[in-house]
Amino acid sequence: KTTSKPPPLPSPLRFSKFYQSNMRILVTGGAGFIGSHLVDKLMENEKNEVIVADNYFTGSKDNLRKWIGHPRFELIRHDVTQPLLVEVDQIYHLACPASPIFYKYNPVKTIKTNVIGTLNMLGLAKRVGARILLTSTSEVYGDPLIHPQPETYWGNVNPIGVRSCYDEGKRVAETLMFDYHRQHGIEIRIARIFNTYGPRMNIDDGRVVSNFIAQALRGEPLTVQKPGTQTRSFCYVSDMVDGLIRLMEWEHTGPINIGNPGEFTMVELAETVKELIKPDVEINMVENTPDDPRQRKPDITKAKELLGWEPKVKLRDGLPLMEEDFRLRLGISKE
Ligand code: NAD
Ligand code: UDP
Ligand code: UDP
Repeated sequence: KTTSKPPPLPSPLRFSKFYQSNMRILVTGGAGFIGSHLVDKLMENEKNEVIVADNYFTGSKDNLRKWIGHPRFELIRHDVTQPLLVEVDQIYHLACPASPIFYKYNPVKTIKTNVIGTLNMLGLAKRVGARILLTSTSEVYGDPLIHPQPETYWGNVNPIGVRSCYDEGKRVAETLMFDYHRQHGIEIRIARIFNTYGPRMNIDDGRVVSNFIAQALRGEPLTVQKPGTQTRSFCYVSDMVDGLIRLMEWEHTGPINIGNPGEFTMVELAETVKELIKPDVEINMVENTPDDPRQRKPDITKAKELLGWEPKVKLRDGLPLMEEDFRLRLGISKE
């Protein structure tokens, strides 16, 4: 496929070992939503051997079923809060629940995953000389006072709130990445991922796009949390995976925002889902959860300039692809 191929690489990388010899790549959290799409893409390159380490907290073997048994693929049940000994050239470190209902379910475990899990993967990277990419999050900007958010913004984060296990956890993970880089010379990459959607999202994980699509398909009212004017910017998962691979392969540590700058209010999103999937569905306003950021939109100038990356899939084109996948999994065919 040519569509997602990175543009010509800067000269030092053209001769990197990636393009010359086999690469052994560890993907932590590879049984999850973004991780499994990343694995699909990495496996397309016949020079890659992929090892997934996942504890199946929010991920599933089902997401990887087409690779199980493949000679270039290996799946390990492993919790990243425990040390891991493998020999690899690159580490994509994704392991961490991403949905608020899952990361709030056991907040102490979420912090351990972010802090001890990242420390272990950095220890591994140091021992074997691997390059490591962390999937950080737009949540490091908290409830942002600057809009849209550039990477230079330090954020407005509540350190003691119910989301802190996730957003402060990721902030410490970023700090650890930079300290290993400065202190031990580890090659690091940090992606700050903004809301991502697409096939294989957990159907009942409480995130807004999966909620609205599942509700529309089940004929239940779409639950817009008040006030409904809060905004998010949604990136289709294939665009996200292209951005992550570019970041890993190119020569910039980041942090780099990877997301789609198209910004929508939650009422607009509900209306779009209603129009595309079920025109007669109701929209209900319901109570919100604490610390909900009011607005969020990535400034992707850096990704464009440094990685030649920008998203291609519009929300209106991505939602039907997700609808198709949800219909299959829910067993609801198109009337
Ligand atoms: P996901 O929940 O589908 O995937 C996370 C994976 O990590 C799952 O397979 C889960 O089982 C695994 N995992 C969790 N804790 C683990 C542990 N202690 N040890 C081993 N495996 C563990 O989430 P996702 O949407 O695919 O997110 C992937 C990464 O991207 C996460 O780091 C998340 O913080 C980041 N991110 C995602 C979004 C988004 O919109 N989806 C936004 C910002 C950042
Ligand atoms: N670690 C790991 N795999 C390795 C090497 C290290 O999981 O291949 C873990 C190790 O158990 C430690 C962490 O990474 O808890 C940090 O390792 P580092 O060598 O940086 O620190 P130290 O072991 O000296 O505390
Ligand atoms: N949201 C909503 N209805 C839902 C679930 C979420 O209106 O059924 C809103 C929520 O208040 C937030 C936005 O959608 O403003 C995004 O929430 P999500 O949990 O998907 O992601 P995050 O808050 O991590 O960006």
